[in-house]
Formats: sequence, structure tokens, C-alpha cells
Amino acid sequence: MASLQCLPGDPSILPLKDKDSQEYFFSSDSDDMATSDKADAIKDKDKLDPEVLKDLEKHQYLMRQAIDVAEEALAGGETPVACVLVYDGAVVARGMNDTNRSLNGTRHAEFLAISEFLSKFPASKLRETDLYVTVEPCIMCASALRQYGIRCVYYGCGNDRFGGNGSVLAVHSDKGLEAGYKSYGGIFRKEAIMLLRRFYIQENENAPNPRAKGNRELKQVV
Ligand SMILES: [Zn+2]
Repeated sequence: MASLQCLPGDPSILPLKDKDSQEYFFSSDSDDMATSDKADAIKDKDKLDPEVLKDLEKHQYLMRQAIDVAEEALAGGETPVACVLVYDGAVVARGMNDTNRSLNGTRHAEFLAISEFLSKFPASKLRETDLYVTVEPCIMCASALRQYGIRCVYYGCGNDRFGGNGSVLAVHSDKGLEAGYKSYGGIFRKEAIMLLRRFYIQENENAPNPRAKGNRELKQVV
């Protein structure tokens, strides 16, 4: 089981079990498994669902836009997790993580994108809308997406600590009052992980400083 594992590469980059560190403990390629098991596990993570493969170019094009927004987040000192909402074939709303800047642990990328969407469309249109997000939605976001009736979620890398689309809980598909939604991972998985790694390394290089201390206090709330 590859949960709660270290970052890909040198685990000394960040003490992952430190609760002051990041909230996104994504599926990585580095763990304690034997080499052959590890290779199989990585292969599995890179395996895309046949449903995604049917129209891979389109999905990659849309995920690329989410990755671009995550790059913006990274440049602005935010955790590089971002998403786009796609309605009628077009990106109509974008969101990036905003918890560090706002000191508000609910300001996840998905919530920002939904806010933008709702400023343009009635909520009912979310039922015809797909989400492309660089990291598997957390349990909080997965629940909000389900309540809004999102049509489908495509994500990059899994979130082994907080993932609500199967990694920790399957909020998207568990029995519930609202209908569930389909969820497919692995589109630009490595790119999504690399963004996070760059952020962690950057944050580690900057620490300790007063701002980092403030962030650490905030992150425990999420
Ligand atoms: Zn979230």
C-alpha cells in the first residue's frame, strides 16, 4: 500500500509525517515496495482508463489548461493545485488553491472554480459540466462536487492522504442521496506531481521564515 508515503526522490526534502508540512500527500513513485512491485504499481498508476483513452487528446488538452493554472499558483507561492470547469466543450471557469494567501483552509481550487462558474451559469448547468483538476479532489471538495452534481471528474495524481475520489474515501461513488459522478485519474499525473515537488522544495529552501511559520499554523486547519 503506497499511502502516506514520501515524496518521489529524496525523502529528506520534506519530513512528510510532520503535520506542519503540506496537505497534499499525492501518490508518488517512491516507497518501500520491492523494485518489481514498485514498477508494477507505477505502471498501474500510469494506466489510463479506456474511457479516457477514447478521447485522450481532448482530455490532455483540457488537463494542460489546469496544469497551466497550477503553474501560475506556483509562481505566486501557492500550493500548485488547480482546475478548470468545462461546459459545452469550453473552459468556462478556473481555480487554483488559495489557502496560503487567504489564510482560509476552504479555499481549494475546486471551490474557486465553482464560484466563478456560479457567477455565470445556474447551478443546474454543473450537471453538464466536467472538472479537470491536477490532484484528486479532497474529501471536502469531492462532497461539494457530488452535491452540485458534477458530471465527471478527471484528475492528474492521486491524493493518498485526503483523496475523496477513491484514495481515502470514494465520496464520488458511495451510496448517497445524490447521484454519484464518474472519476478518472492519471492524466498528466507526473506533471502534477512535479509541480508539487517543486513547491515543496521551494518552501523547504525558504524555511524557516515568519511567513512559513504562519503557513504551518494555517495548514493544520485544513
Ligand atoms: Zn479540496
